[in-house]
Formats: sequence, C-alpha cells, structure tokens
Amino acid sequence: MTELLAKYAEATVPRYTSYPPATQFHDGVGAETYADWLAAIGDDATLSLYLHIPFCSQLCWYCGCHTTVPNDLTRVGRYVETLQAETARVADGLGGAPQVVHIHFGGGSPSMLAPDAFAAVMATLRAHFAVGGEAEIACELDPRNLTPDRIAALAAQGVGRVSLGVQDISAEVQALINRRQPLDLVRRCVDGLRAAGIAAVNLDLMYGLPGQTVEHVVRSAEAAAALGADRIAVFGYAHVPWFKRHQQAIDERRLPDMGARFEQMMAAEATLLAAGYIKIGLDHFAKAHDPMAVAKESGRLRRNFQGYTVDPATALLGLGASAIGALPQGYAQNEPHLGRYRDAVEAGRLPVVRGVALKPDDRVRRHIIETLMCQEALDLDQAEGASGERPDRDLETLAADGLIEIDGSRLTVTTKGQPYLRNIAACFDAYHSDGATRHSRAV
Ligand code: SF4
Repeated sequence: MTELLAKYAEATVPRYTSYPPATQFHDGVGAETYADWLAAIGDDATLSLYLHIPFCSQLCWYCGCHTTVPNDLTRVGRYVETLQAETARVADGLGGAPQVVHIHFGGGSPSMLAPDAFAAVMATLRAHFAVGGEAEIACELDPRNLTPDRIAALAAQGVGRVSLGVQDISAEVQALINRRQPLDLVRRCVDGLRAAGIAAVNLDLMYGLPGQTVEHVVRSAEAAAALGADRIAVFGYAHVPWFKRHQQAIDERRLPDMGARFEQMMAAEATLLAAGYIKIGLDHFAKAHDPMAVAKESGRLRRNFQGYTVDPATALLGLGASAIGALPQGYAQNEPHLGRYRDAVEAGRLPVVRGVALKPDDRVRRHIIETLMCQEALDLDQAEGASGERPDRDLETLAADGLIEIDGSRLTVTTKGQPYLRNIAACFDAYHSDGATRHSRAV
C-alpha cells in the first residue's frame, strides 16, 4: 500500500467535476459566445440553475471556495439585486422556455441571505424561468448563521434538500481551522430543518485537516451518521496556500502526512459503511433509499461542479460571481471579482469572462471520464475518439498495480483502485500533463 501511495497519491490530478478541467478555461469564451450558446437552448432542453452566494460570516482557514466576509451587510443586499438583474438578462437570452428541474444555491454561505432576500431571489427565478413544482431546490448552509427565520424561509420557498458544513466535530480541530461549531448547534439545525419539513439533509465532513487524527475522523463520521444524514460527503483538505492565501494561517506542521491522510480517508469509509451507508464514487455516501444511491444503482449518477449529483438537466446555467455553467456547447464562467461582475451586469452585459468550447474529442473523453468517475467501470470499445483509436494511456501499469481489471473490452476499477479514481480517469485526459501542477493531490 505504501508503494501505491508514493506512486499515485502524491500525483496532482483534477477532481474531474468538468472535462476539460477548469485549468483549460480561457478568455476566448466571453459574453458573445455565451449569448450564442444561450440562444441555442430551446424548449426541449431541461435546465439546472446554480446560484453562487459569495459571502460568509467568518473565513474558515481551509476554505477553497470563492467567498468573502462582508464588513457591511448592505453589500449582500446589493449583490442580490445584481443577481436578480443577471437572472433576468440570462433568461431573456434563452432560445426557448425550457423547464427548470434543479436549483442549487452554493457559496460561500447561502444562509447569509436574509429571509426576504432569499424570497426575492426565488421570486425572480420563478418570474423568469419555468420552474415546475417538481424541481428540486437545494441549498448549502452554514449552521452558525442558520437562524429559525432563515429555516422558515427555506421551507416556504420549497427547498427540499440542504447540505450543512460540519467538517470535524472536535473543538481542537475546529480551533485550528477557525470554525468553532459545537455538535449541539448542528443537531439543533438538523432538528429545526426537519421540523420545518425539509427532510433531505446532507452533511459535509473533511479529512486531512490540521491536528486531525483517525479518531477525530471516525468520531465525526459516527456523529454524522447518528444525526441520520441522508448523504454524507467526505472531502480531503486541499492545501494550496499559494492559490488560497488565507490557508497560510494553517500551521503546516500540524497537517497529517500522506499516509495519515490515507488512513483517515479509509477510516471514514469503514465507519460509514458499517453505519449502513452506500459508497458513491470518490467521496460521497448515501442511505440506500436516497436518490443518489438509487441513481448509482441504475447508472444515472452524474458529476458536475457540485460533485456527484442526480441532476438530469441537459444544461446547467451559472448565476452570480464566479459561477460556472455547463452547456451543451461548453463551459462558461462568470467574472469572479464582485465589482467587475456588478459593473458588467449593470451595463446590461452577460458577465461571462472565460470558459471552453467542447471539441469532438473533448466530448468523447468527457463521457469516458464522467462514466469512470460515476460508475467505476467502462466499456473500452465506447472509448474511441474521432481517430478510431482509444484515447487512453498507461492502462497496463494500472492493471499491473491492481487498480483496474480489464476483461475483453470491459474496464473495472478494483476495490484497491477506488481511492485512485482520479488517477485512473487522468489516463483519458488529453490535457493532464498541461495543467498537472495546478490541481490538488489525488488523496
Ligand atoms: S463557511 Fe464554507 S464557504 Fe464560508 S469560509 Fe467556511 S468553508 Fe468557506
């Protein structure tokens, strides 16, 4: 195992929440291209909307998200107005009136939105898009600012699934990551959400944090299971202080080494499997009745910028600063800078500043990589590019190391290979060597 860790776990590989990875985005895709892409979306499409709320009440030192702590809450109010204006502009640009099947509020902390602001954003979405009663509305929440009136507002607007950031329940680890959050607070939030009728609760955990041990991870996983979470995600901390400057506040001497990270990851998995959860891909666990477990079983699991998802939409539109959309023609990202994002929207422009258009070869590889990341298996005969050749490399090495098995045209990821799913997917990534150092480590 140590040999495998040294060989694969230290490798920097994309998380494959998109293909091509975001490192391939460029400014050749801007407002004009995006306008063309939107115009090509007709009535027959189905839409998913992602709304980015880039505000938090306090900065966690491990954070890898695009967010900021506003010194004045009027900034949040002004952002909401811009978001509403962008929503109207984007909806206007669509070629038809496709049905919205999924809405996701991410961040940052969408729970920073006051109840009336959240209601106003939802009213704008309903006014400009065809949001049916069947659409799933999901929201990421920070238990520390989830007040009872905010829970009531979520329920009133039809939010049916929420994700709460927990990370680790130990006070010692919480102090080292600047996120003090007693387990009792999380419990009160979960109880309050369920009492309000929001039954589907996801909890997010992490391993690889400063001061964290296997015992911490196991206790946190047990606590998440005891709270009855429908889904639990367990993400590895990605330490990239050159990219996320606030991570410099983390004491690197307290970070677990690669061997310890691997043990923590495996301990979380063993704990959650023992508690009856089903493993989904790289880092998710779900109860057997949860739609994600059902989607995995039936081959309908998908992967997008939020990670694993059951969202069936044919186009994902990103709204808000830094938000990324995945359209049939390619990926498009909004301006991340809050001032420039607002200026673009107030000037009546679509605020897209970068992205990538999919080439035929990208589409083949995207399908292969998403299939591998979701199903952990692949029919290699389908893995042919326009050239008629299989776009893979180094599969023999992976097979020799016991990470995959190949039987005829069928590639299957072994139990030993599951932790290295990203390394296996990288064998089909034409860009991998180009941007390798800009990604996080595999484990
Ligand atoms: S609450 Fe979430 S988004 Fe906000 S700083 Fe902490 S980890 Fe980042």
